[in-house]
Amino acid sequence: MSPDAGAGARMHALVRELYPLPRSITGDAVRQTLARAAEIVPLAVSEVPSGTPVLDWTVPEEWNLRGAWIDGPDGTRVVDARDHALHVLGYSVPFRGRLTRDELDQHLHSLPDAPELIPYRTSYYAPRWGFCLPDRLRRALPDGEYDVVMDTSLGPGHLTLGEVVIPGATEDEILISCHVCHPALANDNLSSLAVALEAAQTLTGRPTSLTYRFVFAPGTIGAITWLARNPAVIPRIAGGLAISNLGDSGSLTYRSSRRGDATMDNVARDEVRRRGGSAREFTPYGYDERQYCAPGFNLPVGLLSRTPWGEFPEYHTSADNPDFVTAEALADSLDALLAILAGVEAAGPTPPDRPRPGRDAGGAEAYLNLAPYGEPQLGRRGLYSAIGGATDGKEAELAMLWVLSLSDGDHTMVDIALRSGMPATTLAAAASRLQAAGLIVPLAEAPTDAWPDPWSG
Ligand code: ZN
Repeated sequence: MSPDAGAGARMHALVRELYPLPRSITGDAVRQTLARAAEIVPLAVSEVPSGTPVLDWTVPEEWNLRGAWIDGPDGTRVVDARDHALHVLGYSVPFRGRLTRDELDQHLHSLPDAPELIPYRTSYYAPRWGFCLPDRLRRALPDGEYDVVMDTSLGPGHLTLGEVVIPGATEDEILISCHVCHPALANDNLSSLAVALEAAQTLTGRPTSLTYRFVFAPGTIGAITWLARNPAVIPRIAGGLAISNLGDSGSLTYRSSRRGDATMDNVARDEVRRRGGSAREFTPYGYDERQYCAPGFNLPVGLLSRTPWGEFPEYHTSADNPDFVTAEALADSLDALLAILAGVEAAGPTPPDRPRPGRDAGGAEAYLNLAPYGEPQLGRRGLYSAIGGATDGKEAELAMLWVLSLSDGDHTMVDIALRSGMPATTLAAAASRLQAAGLIVPLAEAPTDAWPDPWSG
């Protein structure tokens, strides 16, 4: 098989077309993106009302951007969301006012180490407004009064999900999951939307044993919403991939599922290595594989990317634009994805590993996660930083995610330290915060009806 140049050009054109839309976790730009996808594949779109409880979360209010700008002391417009969707802090609440330079500066985000680039920042769950701009521009703002307009709406609405199912001869399913919530970023993650749509078209014409389900959902809350609404599908998932960052010129990377030994893991690891790429172990932080791999689900869903998130300097900045991704890389990623799926078809699916928490840690320090289905919402418990998009200062959060992921009754705190490679003291501090928040209990004190069956209801 050689990568398909025609498909590469089509995918790159789609990335370029959808790039400017001010997508977020809800709103019209996600609808427009999915409407365009529905012209390519028979996409089923569902709208889930704000306020709907989903696992440990609640579907948020819907956010839409009409316009946003800052006018300087001399009346010159210094920032305008029409120039770049990244200029708006995602989920900014509405605001109109006149501010001094110092007051305005409290609401600005920039990258001193990359002064020409606009950063991508969000504040989904803490109500605030803000602008993102090149640090060079921020430093050059003169003293004086600024007129600020953040013309957004935030209120009851819906969260929008898209999915397409390609039936095979059996009900065993392969899940391909792609986040669609990023504004004006190309590699992360329009590249994968384009690859997923092209793969779905290819599989539609092919007799397969497995059924393929492509889910297009906003990151985190979208995957959690999908999981909450599909209890009957979950036991049929025999393997899956979250896909992201498939358009840069780096080599392929596969990150294992939490299980690590499923057919998907073995096939994807092998395929990526044969193509000069690398394989990595599971971590509980990343894209939506972390929801599918939550200990209560433990689905064999890994992460396929080229250069992993956070490891290319363009990541979550205005430099991740359509010129950063190439038709060749997109075509190569499509080729690799289809080869992995063919390999899983040939090998046969992995049976579900329905988790049943152990109860005896032999006296060693161990806990049980009391919210094992999807990631619990750490933000509303004050355990998570409010501004999303940044990659720094994450160690304490990562430690909490490791403790949650492996506090399944089968792992002691020593096991978690060994598998995560994190210092025992950092993990102990994370465990004590999680216990104070009621998210874990010492294993010996765990109620016997923890981990209710999510598939019976
Ligand atoms: Zn991202």
